[in-house]
Amino acid sequence: ITRNPGETEFHQAVREVLESLGPVVAKHPQYTDAEVIRRLCEPERQIIFRVPWTDDAGRVQLNRGFRVEFNSALGPYKGGLRFHPSVYLGIVKFLGFEQIFKNSLSGLPIGGAKGGSDFDPKGRSEAEIMRFCQSFMTELYRHLGEYTDVPAGDIGVGEREVGFLFGQYKRITNRYESGVLTGKGLSWGGSQVRTEATGYGTVFFVNEMLAHTGQSFDGKQVVVSGSGNVAIYAIEKAHQLGARVIACSDSDGYVVDEAGIDLELLKEIKNGHRGRVADYAERRSGARYVAGGSIWQVPCDIALPCATQNELDGTDAKSLVENGCLIVAEGANMPTTPDAIRSLREAGVRFAPGKAANAGGVATSALEMQQNASRDSWTFEHTEARLAEIMRSVHHRTLATADEYDVPGDYVAGANIAGFIRVADAMLHLGLI
Ligand code: NDP
Repeated sequence: ITRNPGETEFHQAVREVLESLGPVVAKHPQYTDAEVIRRLCEPERQIIFRVPWTDDAGRVQLNRGFRVEFNSALGPYKGGLRFHPSVYLGIVKFLGFEQIFKNSLSGLPIGGAKGGSDFDPKGRSEAEIMRFCQSFMTELYRHLGEYTDVPAGDIGVGEREVGFLFGQYKRITNRYESGVLTGKGLSWGGSQVRTEATGYGTVFFVNEMLAHTGQSFDGKQVVVSGSGNVAIYAIEKAHQLGARVIACSDSDGYVVDEAGIDLELLKEIKNGHRGRVADYAERRSGARYVAGGSIWQVPCDIALPCATQNELDGTDAKSLVENGCLIVAEGANMPTTPDAIRSLREAGVRFAPGKAANAGGVATSALEMQQNASRDSWTFEHTEARLAEIMRSVHHRTLATADEYDVPGDYVAGANIAGFIRVADAMLHLGLI
């Protein structure tokens, strides 16, 4: 805490991992001897830079850009870029730290990183967003490369922004280096299923949790927070598997639609320009909009927080428990506060942390890198089958590790320990790096 003052989200993320590692260090003193945990908590490299750009009125605007290259023991740095006014070093470091363990747990050859800017895309024209992305990449490009650091999207960064970033990288370097960014469009090196991957992957993971106790999505009531990339495709896959998603949200409020969210309508409203769920309620008969308030008041069997960090707190957890919720799985990164996790688990609600449940996004990014490296492109069906298989193995690895360390059924400990061991072993093998 004294070494990284004021970075509260980073402290929260580190504490959550360290709380799980007691049994591992007790059993394997080599990690302590080599100071692996202290080294893991210190990023290999942190880049903070100025991003000047001109708005449509010709005024100069200034933002701050970040890239925290946290750990490259398992492969090139990999993790998304977030454009949101709340972004500062503590957010980027928490996301980068989580990314190390998630990527390790996925079993794929990728290191951990995260980046972004305090730029707020809301209300900005397409030309302003392009100029911002070009200025951002004009500094960042020197730190990237398919063998070095491969960013992707996150909040506020979708295919359009990845396109502007890739265009500027290509222009500066004079290289069509597809593998330098993931989340690209299908006609310029992107992968099928990348757009859907995080939401689909979260639902695949929950499907494994259900199957583990002989249940299925069929007939289950689901609440999904957010209405962005992760939320939309979580809703889509949950519907395909026979569940009914009855509520979703944005940062202004939430909508309840007992007949099941009409995804076509939701997609039409969002359609790249971040339309409001209030508009959905206006256009859909029977739907009810609640401004502000907490979506977790809505009774459900399965809750999928897919919006942002710390959006589900202790009070929300209490409501979920009282309403008989069975499973909470994180589509977003760290959306559940520590006291909420504690309440859920004490009440017997099964809880899947983002490191495991939302690993499908980065895993499919790794599949995009594989396709770029072999100049190939796979079909939707093949890529989705690979994603489902990866989520099955993440689920299996998480539970098997929890069993091995005498915490059966504990998805938090299982994911943290399995993620830690793979990356820690690589760090030991690579020497003091
Ligand atoms: P998007 O920008 O596409 O969507 C974010 C959504 O969350 C928007 O609907 C936004 O509403 C809403 N939101 C933001 N803050 C709040 C809040 N306080 N309360 C309710 N809703 C809110 O981002 P993504 O869907 O890509 O990312 C969502 C989460 O998933 C993030 O935590 C991200 O790190 C994580 N994630 C994303 C991956 C990906 O592949 N995209 C991979 C793994 C994790 P509004 O429009 O009002 O801002």
